[in-house]
Amino acid sequence: PATPTDPRSDAPASAALLERATRVIPGGVNSPVRAFRAVGGTPRFIASATGPWLTDVDGRRYVDLLCSWGPMILGHAHPDVLEAVRTASARGFSFGTPSENEVLLAEEIVARIEPVEQVRLVSSGTEATMSAIRLARGVTGRSVIVKFAGCYHGHVDALLAAAGSGLATLALPDSAGVPVEMTADTIVVPYNDVPALEEVFAARGSEIAAVITEAAAGNMGVVPPAPGFTEAVRRVTREHGALLVSDEVMTGFRCSKAGWFGLEGPYAAGAPDIFTFGKVMGGGFPAAAFGASAEIMAHLAPLGPVYQAGTLSGNPVATAAGLATLRGCTDDLYPRLEVTARTIADAASAALAAEGVAHTVQWAGSMFSVFFREAKVTNYDEARDQDTAAYGRFFHSMLESGVHLPPSAFEAWFVSGSHDEEAVGQVVEALPAAARAAAHAG
Ligand code: PLP
Repeated sequence: PATPTDPRSDAPASAALLERATRVIPGGVNSPVRAFRAVGGTPRFIASATGPWLTDVDGRRYVDLLCSWGPMILGHAHPDVLEAVRTASARGFSFGTPSENEVLLAEEIVARIEPVEQVRLVSSGTEATMSAIRLARGVTGRSVIVKFAGCYHGHVDALLAAAGSGLATLALPDSAGVPVEMTADTIVVPYNDVPALEEVFAARGSEIAAVITEAAAGNMGVVPPAPGFTEAVRRVTREHGALLVSDEVMTGFRCSKAGWFGLEGPYAAGAPDIFTFGKVMGGGFPAAAFGASAEIMAHLAPLGPVYQAGTLSGNPVATAAGLATLRGCTDDLYPRLEVTARTIADAASAALAAEGVAHTVQWAGSMFSVFFREAKVTNYDEARDQDTAAYGRFFHSMLESGVHLPPSAFEAWFVSGSHDEEAVGQVVEALPAAARAAAHAG
């Protein structure tokens, strides 16, 4: 593959920017998976985006199946969101005081997720999960957190153990700079493994503050909970007085109006106690949240003893973008997203089958992943057992044909309400050549 300085690179302006970037930004990127390490080659520096299209600094256009890793559910620069951002920003950028948009966004979230009576707004999914586990520990007076292998909850020290996403891609078991004490109270259990979870609770149930789980895993590729899994997690946590934190940063408002909970919940054993949200609810701006019953949320400062704060939390421009985006997530959007996603996934599957490439497609609402292996994936070990080199060849062929996929085999593909016939057509046309590339190494 062409290197950043290689004149054969078909993205000379991106390559030049990458070279400058690497001098002043580690690896040239501000989030590791953007660096294309898993697929090789030059990451595209995007100059602008509208609807389903990305335009890079070389002037090439791509159909976007990354959607900023989830947030851009209405497409880029959606007119309603743009208008809301213009209006809000003309009124000032940040006040450090309460403001109306925060109330409106909180009301919109609470109206959609029945068990959530109150939310606290933050600026990233990482902050949401970090605060959620602090809250769970504060409420229960216990320390231990249980997470599932392959679930990624942001770069929170205590949760950087067997996390998916960039870590799965880079195959790092953990991160340097996280002292062992920080993960000493974290127990990692295989995803979709109820007996393993029960065993942990049998041994240490009275110490466990919470189980945190991706509502449907998307960071080892899309691996939905097996039927009855979330239900069982809810039952076991309840039996032992532990809380259940459902991380809907990726699935929230993406899988349905009420996220994954809207598709699967409520569970017979009860709803999760704490939810975390991000991505879609910020509409492409830094806004995220965690929420629960009023009783649980009363443990937070200034009402209670669990401290949590943020200079830019509930930022008026970010909340305006989030509110306009959620208001655009109407009932009719979700079936449309699913039709678009099915069309793309079916075409991918047909193209790969025609070339004899082993693959399996997995779903959570309209989120899906194409795993380059034959058998279904139910956990992290199985997710890692796929042909990532074939994915790399597939990815680059698609990129050449003007389709920007996630630059790693361990990610969800996202569509938006703006993916129209032209965009979907360009994807479908690109697939046969990409499948051929996947089939033939070198
Ligand atoms: N939780 C989940 C399920 C995520 O997918 C992510 C990000 O990909 C996070 C938390 C962290 O969110 P952020 O990247 O906004 O910190």
